[in-house]
Amino acid sequence: MPKYALALVNIKGLGVKTFSYLIPDEMKDEIQVGQAILVPFGRQGLINAFCVGFSDYLPEEIKAKKINKILDKTPLFSLEYLKLLEWVANYYICDFVTVLNTAIPMKLIEKCSKTEKSIEYLSSENTTKRQKEILDLLKEKGKMSLIEFERLAKTTRATVMKLADAGCVKLADEEIYRNPLEIFADQKVEPLYDLNDEQTKVYNEINKQIKSKTRKNEPLLLYGVTASGKTEVYFKLIKDTIDSGKNVLFLAPEIALASQLTKRLARKFGINDVAIWHSSISDGERYDVWQKLYKNEIKILAGARSAVFAPLKNIGLIIIDEEHENAYKQTTPAPRYDARKVARKLAEFHNCPLILGSATPDIESYYRASNMKLLSEMPHRFNNAPVAQTSVINMQNHSRQAYRGVISIPLQTAIKETLEKGQQVILLINRRGYSTTTQCQACGQVIECENCSIPMIWHSDGMELKCHYCGKTKSFPEVCPKCGSNALKNSGTGTQKIEILIKELFADARIERIDSDILQKKTAHIELLNRFQSGEIDILIGTQMIAKGLDNPNVTLVGVISADASFNLPDYRASERGFQLLTQVAGRSGRGKFLGSVIFQTYNPDFYAIESAKAQDYKTFYSTEIAAREEFDYPPFSQVIRLVLSSENEFRAEKSAQEIAYRLCSIIEKQGVSERLIVLGPSVCVIERIQNKHRFQIIIKNKMDEKGHMFISKFMQRITMPKDVKLTIDVDPIDIL
Ligand code: ADP
Ligand code: ZN
Ligand code: ZN
Repeated sequence: MPKYALALVNIKGLGVKTFSYLIPDEMKDEIQVGQAILVPFGRQGLINAFCVGFSDYLPEEIKAKKINKILDKTPLFSLEYLKLLEWVANYYICDFVTVLNTAIPMKLIEKCSKTEKSIEYLSSENTTKRQKEILDLLKEKGKMSLIEFERLAKTTRATVMKLADAGCVKLADEEIYRNPLEIFADQKVEPLYDLNDEQTKVYNEINKQIKSKTRKNEPLLLYGVTASGKTEVYFKLIKDTIDSGKNVLFLAPEIALASQLTKRLARKFGINDVAIWHSSISDGERYDVWQKLYKNEIKILAGARSAVFAPLKNIGLIIIDEEHENAYKQTTPAPRYDARKVARKLAEFHNCPLILGSATPDIESYYRASNMKLLSEMPHRFNNAPVAQTSVINMQNHSRQAYRGVISIPLQTAIKETLEKGQQVILLINRRGYSTTTQCQACGQVIECENCSIPMIWHSDGMELKCHYCGKTKSFPEVCPKCGSNALKNSGTGTQKIEILIKELFADARIERIDSDILQKKTAHIELLNRFQSGEIDILIGTQMIAKGLDNPNVTLVGVISADASFNLPDYRASERGFQLLTQVAGRSGRGKFLGSVIFQTYNPDFYAIESAKAQDYKTFYSTEIAAREEFDYPPFSQVIRLVLSSENEFRAEKSAQEIAYRLCSIIEKQGVSERLIVLGPSVCVIERIQNKHRFQIIIKNKMDEKGHMFISKFMQRITMPKDVKLTIDVDPIDIL
């Protein structure tokens, strides 16, 4: 048995760190990785920690203290689990402790030692004077934690127990966890549907792949148009997996979709075997689910990105639905992990299949799957419901007659006809706020944020200009700050303007808007979608938030106000994102028994991504896009590693960027890998300044897989940054703006 245990602690001011502690003899038989322990820490006294490893060696000058106590003998995670986290740290070039901190909620440690109870006032009959004093204090404070009460009332546990026996107070376990799926408890579990021919074919194909002796550790891709019945195929595969005694991890891109999915799973598989995991579940719930997972009591775990770190055991199948979604990638803070990549590694550890599903697969996923013959297709909607008819309105010809230059006559007519039939409309405008720029008509000056180099956006609800990067607001300037003329004007179109215009045009319709401005409450999104689902809203206006997941059979018109808006970003993935968005939103129309239609308004009707989105033709889009990627060596032909150097001091940020690029290039040259590690830059970022920090970037195109990461990782260890320059490393970034 080793001498020391490595303890993960979370210290105020220091953050999450690991320290070594001596293992007392009496604990040597019991201590395990993953246990919550109590350790002494400087002036803070005893604190909670996790045991994350062991060692026999300690530098001489360090005197290790002893572990005080093992708080909970049941470990919360295993050694294999830590190996996965270690891989994440290496791949994403960030330190292990940061990964641990993301994966294992530190709140769990606190929960472990909370055997405490809460205390509540009941009555003060038949008490002594002193007891009544104590009870009055409690009456005034209401329900509180027992420890805190004892401290406040300067009383002892013995006194409290007497009061409890006399019926003067009530003691209860803190935070009683309730299973959110309880509402389905009385419902009968429904049988799975019989699959139709197309579903059966795909199910057999996937099954063959899964059972194949030569199965590679590569994901299978299920490319199926929206509403083709992919989810029902997953359910059949899930059933097979749990029947064989193994567990299933099922990821959805965001919380709202994960909860929809969990309900659907609960209906088919019962509430006891299913659990949900995402960043917003309560600590009590998380602790409870974590322990159940660890005891292997849950068979199907559904969740958003962070669920890839839940300690589900004995995994036999991983499914990632809507695999093309950005939301699988954490952009900030570090670790900037991508749940799809981590899931691949997880599947490798468990030697189990990973299935990706999408109607608009990520270019990289499609490339790999089609090359490796791991692709299954469902080209038709379930029951052969026809896909919606798409028309493109060329705004070059239509803008003059359009309402306020924005809502074309054909779109107005289509909305009117849809409402008359009692059916529902979705309008997509992928920009929040009222307009897109505030510009001086005399000198051309655009009002930008003082802290960030991007235009501020007028918000008609708060009557102020807002920066979408740092949140800074200011009132509309009376005159142009540059030339002093009073010719400042809002131009461009955002969700708020569309909401106003549509309300003017369709005064009798029930109209709501969904974008992140109105979603201060986490549940507001789900509430609005539910109201739309039940027919209480006629026209739903929103950003890309409304493009996903909505399965409302009464929606027969989808209008895209500006199909160009999604393509304008100077980023290599802009076309892919735009195409996905248009195709996904079009897929919301005509899902039920009524034929649907879709209208794209655009100034670039010939643009290939708009043409293929109109034809709902993924494959044509893919072949154009993959050729461009190959020509410019972008993924999947390389992996991008992005370094951003930012500082309030522009000169120092630039100088650091130059120095890093220079040193990196010379070491690459020396090692003779310059063909496989290509360094671009440094250059100024597209968004030059955010929150008053000047930004420079270096783009590395890596063509040697994980060896490239190791190379960069090693290189980075030797770099020390000046105090006032911040280095951010993003592996496989979702954009390079
Ligand atoms: P996707 O996941 O491809 O978008 P879904 O699996 O949600 O599609 O299927 C679309 C709709 O068709 C759902 O309401 C689903 O319940 C229904 N459906 C799919 N397959 C079947 C089946 N074999 N039998 C009955 N209904 C089905
Ligand atoms: Zn001006
Ligand atoms: Zn700003």
